[in-house]
Amino acid sequence: MTELRRSDTSRSDREAPTPAGKGGRLPLLVNAVELQRTPGARKHISEVVVARDIGVDHPAIAGDIEVEVDLESTLDDIGLTGTLAVARTGHCRRCLKPVADVVTIEVDERYAEPPRPGDAPLVIESFPIKNGQLDLRPMVRDEVLLATEESPLCRPDCPGLCPICGRDVSLEPCDCDIALVDERWSVLDQLRND
Ligand SMILES: [Zn+2]
Ligand SMILES: [Zn+2]
Repeated sequence: MTELRRSDTSRSDREAPTPAGKGGRLPLLVNAVELQRTPGARKHISEVVVARDIGVDHPAIAGDIEVEVDLESTLDDIGLTGTLAVARTGHCRRCLKPVADVVTIEVDERYAEPPRPGDAPLVIESFPIKNGQLDLRPMVRDEVLLATEESPLCRPDCPGLCPICGRDVSLEPCDCDIALVDERWSVLDQLRND
C-alpha cells in the first residue's frame, strides 16, 4: 500500500477516502511512470466511478461519474484534457420544477512533480505527481462539486415565475404588468451608466 502524502502544490488539501478492503486497484489512480519517461507519450483514461468512492457525497448527484480524459507528457509535466459527466437531479432555479440532467464538465489540468527544497516554485498551477502516480480523485471531486453547485434550469429559456404574482408563466400566462418591473430595472441601469 503506497502512502499518499499531502503536498503544498496540491490545489486540493483533502485526500479522497479510500474504499476499504477491496484489494483491487483504487479508482482514478494512474501509473505515470511511462508517461514521465517519454515526453510526448499519451494515455487515454476511461473510467466510471461511484461518486461516494471518491468523496463526492451530494444529494443532487444521482449516479456514477464518467471520466474520459487524455494524458500527454511534456518535458516538465503531464497535461490532462477531457470530460467528466455526472447525472444530477434537482429543481429548476427559475420555476422550481424537478429536473434531471447530465452535467458535462470540460477539464484541462496539469500534473507535476512537487518542487524539491531549493527548486524554483512551479510556474503553472498543477496537481502533484506522487510516487509516479497521478491521483485524479481530488480533481474530479472538486470539478464535480463546483459544476453542480448552481441549481439547473428546466430549459435554457425557462421564463420562471412571474415576479409579481408568482405564477409559472410557462404553464399559464398572467396579466401582470411585467413592463413595470422592467422599467424599474432600466432606471437602475441608467443610474449605473451615469
Ligand atoms: Zn424552469
Ligand atoms: Zn403575474
